[in-house]
Amino acid sequence: MRVLWFCIPAYGHTNPTIEVVRELVGRGREVRYYSFEEFREKIEGAGAQFVACDDYLPPVDAKAERRLRRVSTTEMSVQSFRTVANLDPLVSEDIASWHPDVVVTDSACFWGKLAAAKHRLPWVCSTTTFAFNEHSSKYMSHSAAEMADIILGLPRMNREIRRLRPLGYEVKSALDIVTNKPDDNTIVYTSRSFQPCSETFDEKHYRFVGPSVRDVAPKDKAGRPLVYASLGTVINDRPGFYRTLIDAVRGTDVDLLISCGKAFDPTQLGETPCNVRVEQYVDQMEVLSWASLFITHCGMNSASEGMWMGVPELLFPLTGEQRAVARRVAEVGAGRMLEESAARDGAALREAVLAALTDGQIREGSARMRDDLRSCAGPAGAADFIEQVAQRSR
Ligand code: UDP
Repeated sequence: MRVLWFCIPAYGHTNPTIEVVRELVGRGREVRYYSFEEFREKIEGAGAQFVACDDYLPPVDAKAERRLRRVSTTEMSVQSFRTVANLDPLVSEDIASWHPDVVVTDSACFWGKLAAAKHRLPWVCSTTTFAFNEHSSKYMSHSAAEMADIILGLPRMNREIRRLRPLGYEVKSALDIVTNKPDDNTIVYTSRSFQPCSETFDEKHYRFVGPSVRDVAPKDKAGRPLVYASLGTVINDRPGFYRTLIDAVRGTDVDLLISCGKAFDPTQLGETPCNVRVEQYVDQMEVLSWASLFITHCGMNSASEGMWMGVPELLFPLTGEQRAVARRVAEVGAGRMLEESAARDGAALREAVLAALTDGQIREGSARMRDDLRSCAGPAGAADFIEQVAQRSR
């Protein structure tokens, strides 16, 4: 069996797929994975053939760069539509000569979803966030700026869509591509109980396989508690927040580890007290195995990894999607929201951190979620589903 896989250049979307790829390869399936150089090692390490898409990304000028940094939906969609057109000759040729049995594509990867539709191949949607339909998308609260970006960007997006038609791509809208339809075969990397409005997704088409993580044995947490803070790998350029956090734990009996991302050098944060360490990137699962509290932006992976390790969370979402995840973590009792005002004030932040560290309710909630997520079918269940979809359509 041949599996053609597509993903966008993002850790949060790539990481959960790696164990599924390893599982398929272990079963003797051939996997060809379209991704980006940054992820080559991981993908080849899991046993897949790697195809680099880096040279097919459209050129980005300074204005577009600024919009992408703000996670503009319009700009990301425009860039994605252009990538579809750039990749079209390579992908079409590959499909014609390699004859994949099934396509697996990330839910936000326009070129994977549209290629499967154009070539009428059976496909599976790999969803690393929640599955979003008309019910669950109500969990996303967009800011006014996010809404304005989408509405004002419609004419630009429509122009790009019209350019794809002569290449054989019938596209309704960017929104239509990214939403989960009732009968799209879909893997979701969480549990049914964590998915909002899960009753609106049927058993036949939706597999909630749980987070696909590399497990790490929990460490002894006696001694000074470790607070781990990360805003993920995409929108993490928040030196002001990190400085407030460093001030908040100054002189306390708490150790703080910040993963600040690669947008700036940690030394730019100035002198740090001896109970604080700042790194650009850490082995997050390893850190979570001995952390007592996780201050997270609520990227789906980070929030899930925290719950997988049973670590209570202080929730600091920055985008609509992250707010949906944060709301759900709070609802299932595994974390508490960090108010925007507290994130700007060292004393208020100290109070929030110290209160979360002694909060028995969120400790129990995260233990409950740890058991719930660990009871899911995992990468083996995801691989079973991909095989079933391929076999069903033979
Ligand atoms: N991550 C990591 N080390 C870091 C920061 C992040 O290993 O220092 C990993 C983290 O474990 C997670 C992914 O990067 O798997 C981030 O994905 P998430 O969905 O949480 O957020 P995003 O980066 O997409 O905003």
